[in-house]
Amino acid sequence: MVSLFHQKKCNLLDLDVQDCERFVMSLGYKPFHGRNLFKWIHKHGVQDFSQMTDLSKALREKLAQVAEIRIPPIVQEQPAPDGTKKWVLGLWDGQRVETVFIPDGRRTTVCLSTQVGCALNCSFCATARQGFNRNLTVGEIVAQVWHAQRRIGKPPSNLVLMGMGEPLANFENVVKALGILQDDLAYMVSKFRLTLSTSGIVPAIYQLRTRSDVSLAVSLHAPNDALRNTLVPINRKYPLRELIPACRAYIAGDKRRRITWEYVMIRGVNDRIQHAKELIRLLEGTPSKVNLIPFNPFPGSPFSPTPEAEIEAFRKRLLAAGFFATVRKTRGEEIAAACGQLVGRVQDRTRRSQFGVSL
Ligand code: SAH
Repeated sequence: MVSLFHQKKCNLLDLDVQDCERFVMSLGYKPFHGRNLFKWIHKHGVQDFSQMTDLSKALREKLAQVAEIRIPPIVQEQPAPDGTKKWVLGLWDGQRVETVFIPDGRRTTVCLSTQVGCALNCSFCATARQGFNRNLTVGEIVAQVWHAQRRIGKPPSNLVLMGMGEPLANFENVVKALGILQDDLAYMVSKFRLTLSTSGIVPAIYQLRTRSDVSLAVSLHAPNDALRNTLVPINRKYPLRELIPACRAYIAGDKRRRITWEYVMIRGVNDRIQHAKELIRLLEGTPSKVNLIPFNPFPGSPFSPTPEAEIEAFRKRLLAAGFFATVRKTRGEEIAAACGQLVGRVQDRTRRSQFGVSL
């Protein structure tokens, strides 16, 4: 039976370095012990207090009584032939969330989820189909990078908040997690290698600028409101005439910065040359990079991908107008880990044995 006085242990994975300092001070220790504790957890990936050898034995024992480092386990790993791996994390309440690890030469990118499901209902995205379950905690966001670092032996070089969920709809937890990911005592990911992708929650974009410093990617997908309303329904609330100025304000004052516009190429829907012309007009004067993403089909979706040659023609239009434009290489398709394919579904046994290992 749980005692009436039973206090839930503090999960240290939810704490940034200042919180860690305050926490050890509340136990009667000095702030630098908190910084050491934070380093053990994140830099060294240690989960067991007894291994934190530069903390006194008394502090380690105290920590074991009142705190824990609760890391959701990877319950399934699916490797794809191209080296991409999808990790399914099992959360304390039985929910599942997906993280994608994408190696590319010396660069290692980890694609993080920020929510279980998503409430935004974009018509071309598989995550939308499962609806919204809940926000991830700070620790659950950070745990995805903790695991990546343990597995690759060093911090990942790049992080993208492009997995399941809308990061700006889980604002406070995401901002705090970003701070931990950027901290020199933890994962040291620089603002140029840490990209938050949003569908365009305008007030939160303004707020983000004051609370954090990361690169911003925006899921644009259409060059006008009529079309964007149908693909990214949040556009009805925050139309382009509000979204574009918010993005410009985000990078204002820093000449090295630009906005990355994600644009899923959907056959016959948003991929005509007319759309490229409209896009050029829309983005004129905004330092931009356009990232064209071939639509990744998923079961039950009404759309199909634009043929490669047409994507290239679209890209050439943008280049000719002076925009930096790339086509995103699709990775991890075979394991449903590509953009828009993350659904937090647990594979049945046959698929599991076919595609990966169950841990
Ligand atoms: N909610 C945030 C973060 C998710 S990022 C956002 O919308 O930006 C996931 C990226 O993959 C987004 O750019 C999204 O638009 C894109 N995407 C979604 N479904 C896709 C699909 N079926 N094919 C290709 N890209 C897709």
